[in-house]
Amino acid sequence: MTNPDIRDFTRQELAGTMISLGEKGSRVDRIFNLLHRKGAESFDAMEGIPGELKSKLAARYSLAPAPAVEKRVSKTDKTIKLLFRFPDGAAAESVVIFNKKTVSACLSSQSGCACGCTFCATGGLGLKRDLRAHEILAQFAACRREAGRAPDSVVLMGMGEPFLNWANVKKSVLLLSDNKGHNFPQARITVSTVGVVPVIRELAESRLEIRLAISLITADEKQRAELTPMEKKYPLREIVEAAGYYCARTKKMVFFEYIFFDGLNDSPQDAQKLLALIKGVPCKVNLIMYNQNPGGAAFTPGRFEKGKVFQNILVEAGIRTHMRREKGTDIAAACGQLAAGPEAP
Ligand code: SF4
Repeated sequence: MTNPDIRDFTRQELAGTMISLGEKGSRVDRIFNLLHRKGAESFDAMEGIPGELKSKLAARYSLAPAPAVEKRVSKTDKTIKLLFRFPDGAAAESVVIFNKKTVSACLSSQSGCACGCTFCATGGLGLKRDLRAHEILAQFAACRREAGRAPDSVVLMGMGEPFLNWANVKKSVLLLSDNKGHNFPQARITVSTVGVVPVIRELAESRLEIRLAISLITADEKQRAELTPMEKKYPLREIVEAAGYYCARTKKMVFFEYIFFDGLNDSPQDAQKLLALIKGVPCKVNLIMYNQNPGGAAFTPGRFEKGKVFQNILVEAGIRTHMRREKGTDIAAACGQLAAGPEAP
């Protein structure tokens, strides 16, 4: 059996190991920094760490080789899509999105996804495997390199359902925000779920500062059941109830994501249905046009004008909204298009 990867352990966990190895706990900050900030790729490459300690660490832990990375750049808006192939062949994608003044990194939490949403390219792949915390961090580090600086925000909205790999995602948040590592503020990390109710409730009770986005997709339960098999397990009403609980516990708002499919859920009546569903929950609604992909060929993207009418109904009802302008569609890097394959141009 392979030893666990040392980058999957928090600084506190490594401090415990140091004590059990009879080593000075004070060395742990340096080790953590070398691994996470300096990107040490082998125990030998850890500068300033005595050889004997390196050997002890190498006997207990592994350091998986860096994944192979392929890069595609959008000709229309400079969005960068990175395809990672991990040593065991599992693949995942990340996207670096350049806004007017800010940079955002969209990371994957799983290779593929088990949720099977019918409009999503990742859903068509099925689940290959969960990503380990260090594999999520490897995506962050690569996005940082591509952007030439630390991103302003991180969204876990790439491939996979983060709440079905919560142990690793939570660990990646703790590692990312450690001040001896990337020191990336938790409050600038958003985790997006299709609505795994028990984990929404767990997050509400945790001390994590991350932001929560919930992909409602649509406001009609019957229609949603056709768009995602997850509706059967976690019905819309239970999801919104859990969101209300999250807001009450954390005193934060939740981000609801609504996807426009032409003629399906973009009428003024649909807007009223959404208002009734989310009534009383402190939230902001992100409105997203469906992005076409081979898996979701039966759907047509919503139209901007209809989206605007829908948006105005929400705004008049006092709901904060944002109509998201998708980027990277020419390289299949937009929401719902990630498929970790060679099919993108
Ligand atoms: S939309 Fe999200 S949860 Fe659904 S299949 Fe795609 S990646 Fe999975």
